[in-house]
Amino acid sequence: MIFVAFSPANRNIVVFTDLDGTLLDHTTYRFDAALPALRLLKKKNIPLILCSSKTAAEIERLRKQLRLRHPFISENGGGIFVPRGYFDQDFVHDKKTPDYAIIELGAPYSELRAFLNRLQKRFPDTIQGFGDLETEEVARLCGLSVEEARLAKQREHDEPFLLHEARLEAEIVREARAHGIQVTKGGRFYHLIGGNDKGRAVSILTDLFRQERGETTTVGIGDSLNDLAMLAAVDYPVLVKKPDHTYDPSVSLPNLILASSPGPEGFCEAILRLVNTLT
Ligand SMILES: [Mg+2]
Repeated sequence: MIFVAFSPANRNIVVFTDLDGTLLDHTTYRFDAALPALRLLKKKNIPLILCSSKTAAEIERLRKQLRLRHPFISENGGGIFVPRGYFDQDFVHDKKTPDYAIIELGAPYSELRAFLNRLQKRFPDTIQGFGDLETEEVARLCGLSVEEARLAKQREHDEPFLLHEARLEAEIVREARAHGIQVTKGGRFYHLIGGNDKGRAVSILTDLFRQERGETTTVGIGDSLNDLAMLAAVDYPVLVKKPDHTYDPSVSLPNLILASSPGPEGFCEAILRLVNTLT
């Protein structure tokens, strides 16, 4: 009889990460502080899956800068983009482009905009969506270049919005729910999304990795409420600090690992420690 000992050295790991405020600095959007951890993931062939409220156009740009060839998740779980030929096995998808097979989980953008317009009629002068803003305004509000803001406006499944009267939050959440729409919160904006969340997208992609490679350990890392479902869907959830060195109080899970720094510093420290423990 042959015994195949399970050695932690050949454990399959996949890391899912939020971008704004996690891998990317909240203010500067830089990821330099995370480079040692990014290098370790590359060296160990551990897929890093970018999972953000950003658009596919924005994530593709960053994915190129990071030289990643792995799938990614756009717009709060609205779309899963799998590079053509990445998995050997076939899987159900909704759309194909020359570069990707795409699983669409999000509501169409036009539906979200229609709902936002309805909210704006009901609560005049209190709500501003991305779709109402000029590219230059998006650039200014987000601290992006005009070119980056242009990519941020190419939305398919998620409408970020500013709420000028915070006391309306609960009422808007209720109203949205009654229309089958969710309100979530990232670092700067509220977001209108359909039935999707980052967690559902992470679970689907995890299943694809498991079908392909067998047993797989998952790590997730984020900073805000819109990461909660992703963190709940992984084996090792990590929360980084906010820029003011506090943790988002709306993210709580029994097995949550707390990184001791904000953004990319927290990412680096937590990923180095976790990957070195797991491998
Ligand atoms: Mg974030």
